[in-house]
Amino acid sequence: MSLMNTPSSSGRFGDFGGRFVPESLMPACLELEEVFNQAWNDPEFLGEYHRILREYGGRPTPVTRLGRLSSHLGVEVLIKREDLAHTGSHKINNVIGQALLTKRMGKKRMIAETGAGQHGVATATAAALLGLECVVYMGEVDVKRQALNVFRMKLLGADVIPVSSGSRTLKDAINEAMREWVTSVESTHYCIGSVMGPHPYPYMVRQFQRIIGDEAYEQTRVMLDGEVPDYVVACVGGGSNAAGTFAGFIDSRSRLIGVEPEGGAAINNGIPGIVHGMRSNLLQDDVGQVLEAHSISAGLDYPGVGPEHSYLSSIGRAEYVTACDQEVLEALQLVSRLEGIIPALEPAHAMAWLIREAGKKIPAGSTVLVTMSGRGDKDAETVAEILGGGI
Ligand SMILES: *Cc1c(COP(=O)(O)O)cnc(C)c1O
Repeated sequence: MSLMNTPSSSGRFGDFGGRFVPESLMPACLELEEVFNQAWNDPEFLGEYHRILREYGGRPTPVTRLGRLSSHLGVEVLIKREDLAHTGSHKINNVIGQALLTKRMGKKRMIAETGAGQHGVATATAAALLGLECVVYMGEVDVKRQALNVFRMKLLGADVIPVSSGSRTLKDAINEAMREWVTSVESTHYCIGSVMGPHPYPYMVRQFQRIIGDEAYEQTRVMLDGEVPDYVVACVGGGSNAAGTFAGFIDSRSRLIGVEPEGGAAINNGIPGIVHGMRSNLLQDDVGQVLEAHSISAGLDYPGVGPEHSYLSSIGRAEYVTACDQEVLEALQLVSRLEGIIPALEPAHAMAWLIREAGKKIPAGSTVLVTMSGRGDKDAETVAEILGGGI
């Protein structure tokens, strides 16, 4: 069986996924599933999606051979350059797709949740491009921490609503966005930012992100004389850049590696539970209370993970490992100095695992593709503060 055929018609990836939502949201999920499935088979929709990503989004993004890092590590390192996409990360692939679906459903408004603010900015960008209203829910704590992104969203014409419940961070913003969606579902599309939530979101977002893996598969085959990379590595927060990357290589012999932050490792340290409309691995305490994730990178601080990753882990098709804050900081600096590319803190997790394991778990001479999910400009202040001195 090709793993490309998952999920099942009920949105299950093995024991994971599904659709655990209140009755009032069921029609919206069913409508979205139907509209997405039609659109995904409609050459006109696909043409528009690809045209925007090409003319506006900067696709296809290149694959770059990292010569100096490769010599340093003794393995051949290639990176997929999502850092060069518009808005500085892979998130544009998903939001353009969902904004086009919003119009197709005859809706005029998108709501989104955001933690670090990157998905909020991406959603506001797509909304501006396509003339949609945009409202972004964001925990109060994050609104303060991410003032620059709040300002960018406002420049792009979005309303930012601070959420004061719970820990006032990402998981509370998701709860609040879902609550609002129940009341506004006639006019509003909920633009989820990763491969999570109720069916069809995990599947739909993976399909919008598989452009990363589909391009990279073709590009690396050319660069590696018809071979695929021995390892395909991506960081995992909710898991969308990893799922999109893995999709291109799932039926190949490449080993798929997802790198979680040590302080937010839902696959490595979580247990299955139901949250945000899906069944998946989740960081929770003895009584099922959802725990906070903590890492150096706000973009990976989600206590759950997309159900497809729980599934790929359960069947052994992908392996999930962790990287700690210190190695991530070192990786970010090493790649910057050797290659003139400042990675975002999220993909620096993937680089950190590669740097730690090159010549150990990764045999010398292997070929490794890493998805550079975003650029590091947004993290300069965080990094400067930790290294001392600030900016
Ligand atoms: C948001 C973000 C991530 C984490 O999201 P996934 O859904 O796990 O891909 C990773 N890298 C960058 C640069 C991001 O902005």
